[in-house]
Amino acid sequence: MGKHCWRVMMGVCLAIYMGGCSQPTSQNSTSADGKPRVVATSTIIADLTEKIAQDEIQLTGILKPGTDPHVYEPVPADSRNLEKAQLILYNGFNLEPGLIKLMNSTAKGRKIAVGEAAKPLQLEKEKGQTVPDPHVWGDVKNAIAMTKVIRDALIELSPEDREIFTQQAQQLIQELQQLDTWIAKQIATIPPDKRKLVTTHDAFQYYGRAYGIPIAGTLIGISTEEQPSAQTVRKLVDAIKKIGIPAIFAETTINPALIKTVAAEAKVKLPPRQLYSDSIGAAGSEGDSYVKMMSANTRTIVEALGGKYTPLGTDK
Ligand SMILES: [Zn+2]
Repeated sequence: MGKHCWRVMMGVCLAIYMGGCSQPTSQNSTSADGKPRVVATSTIIADLTEKIAQDEIQLTGILKPGTDPHVYEPVPADSRNLEKAQLILYNGFNLEPGLIKLMNSTAKGRKIAVGEAAKPLQLEKEKGQTVPDPHVWGDVKNAIAMTKVIRDALIELSPEDREIFTQQAQQLIQELQQLDTWIAKQIATIPPDKRKLVTTHDAFQYYGRAYGIPIAGTLIGISTEEQPSAQTVRKLVDAIKKIGIPAIFAETTINPALIKTVAAEAKVKLPPRQLYSDSIGAAGSEGDSYVKMMSANTRTIVEALGGKYTPLGTDK
């Protein structure tokens, strides 16, 4: 094929491309009932979005409750959902690398990194190299910031629903403010020398900072892809013995086999109630919304570390 033919072909491709772009919305973007299509990657973002949007959008949450976002490998249905979406709400700070990669190659709709509304804490990855910690929702104040970002994105997508989105977001923000104050009070009931967290992976830095319970150690780092070495396990066991806390915690999105071994070797309790780290719980579980997962985690931590738990909403 000669140079000229290539040029003609490129011209044709460009024309198709530009034609595609000049259409206000692609045919697929609204659902059969005319509602705008919105995709949320994480279960936490899907839950906040659902609370704000009610029935005014067609919302698809890609990750299912209990799924680990760090290692999630997208399936063909995810590509189709991302392609059709007018608005994609994702966490960002590389929480969901597989989905972010797919989104960047397939999605044409507006993309918003909702979690990046938070000021990131840094986590050391390896040899002094740091990355932004994606687990921003651990501080409820960040969830409030995320709620505002979702609200504004929804209003821009569907301005005629401004009133309902604004009202619902306001109600959710009030609930989140109560949750934030309640968690701080609950954690403060743990005896100060026991107020330390050891979890399976490094997902509780924001929670620890916000509510005054420092992270004393984790088995796995920021991403669950890592496999802890025998030396890491040994070091963690020694650290737990040294700080003298009564319990450490498993997480719902990670196989608990190794953290069980750590607990047995350090001779501390591993409460049967696992922490909801990177996902809300399955429907019907005690952590099946963002507010409920945060409240369930707080209960688990407070009870296991010797504090006095008072259920959310009854502490006044
Ligand atoms: Zn995580």
